[in-house]
Amino acid sequence: MEPIAILGGTFDPVHIGHLRVALEASEALAVPVCLMPAHVPPHRPAPVASAAQRVAMLRAALTGQDRLLLDTRELERSEPSYTVDTLRGMRAEFGAARPLVLLLGLDAFAGLPTWHEWRELFKLAHIAVMTRPGHSTVLPADLDAEVAPRRTQSVADLHAAPCGKALDLAVTPLEVSASAVRAVLAAGRDPRWLVPDALLADPDLLAAYRAAG
Ligand code: ATP
Repeated sequence: MEPIAILGGTFDPVHIGHLRVALEASEALAVPVCLMPAHVPPHRPAPVASAAQRVAMLRAALTGQDRLLLDTRELERSEPSYTVDTLRGMRAEFGAARPLVLLLGLDAFAGLPTWHEWRELFKLAHIAVMTRPGHSTVLPADLDAEVAPRRTQSVADLHAAPCGKALDLAVTPLEVSASAVRAVLAAGRDPRWLVPDALLADPDLLAAYRAAG
């Protein structure tokens, strides 16, 4: 059964770093990738764009291709979701056999032991850790112990079981961040080639960031 991969984030706004990494993961793992915009927890700064605006930008960015999908399930809930609960929802929807692959940057992965019910994540999904050439991080001992027996270098292993494996995935680093794109827009500068052209085609899509300047 074809796996489904998940890339979560704020996407405030979606930019070429997100899209490139999602496409590379999709190709390397031979899976469709769902971009999953998140609610932002109350203790973090609120996104500049509303949830509806972030979704509209993602829809525009993804038009015309079919490897990257949009999944708005977290925004459909009234408050921030734990990843473990999101994966439980996907498991219930897609069934016990469908492989799920959670895509995480190395920094986020190194912080996994602070996540709610983190060991359960491996009972629900595989984790593909997106690494940058020349970057490494020492993992905390409890994470290292959990992950060591799960490690594989074989993409086929992610297709052969519904969950439980950990795989390192080298991706091309692009030095683009949503905060940098917001700063460009707030300063009245041109965001061309930092965001997909579809976001420039509709003047309303990026208006919230220009107004913040
Ligand atoms: P901000 O600058 O507001 O913190 P961001 O650009 O890091 O935002 P998020 O929406 O928080 O974007 O990121 C979603 C996911 O995409 C995260 O897993 C993050 O590591 C990854 N990501 C963001 N930018 C890049 C990039 N340039 N290259 C690779 N991965 C990226």
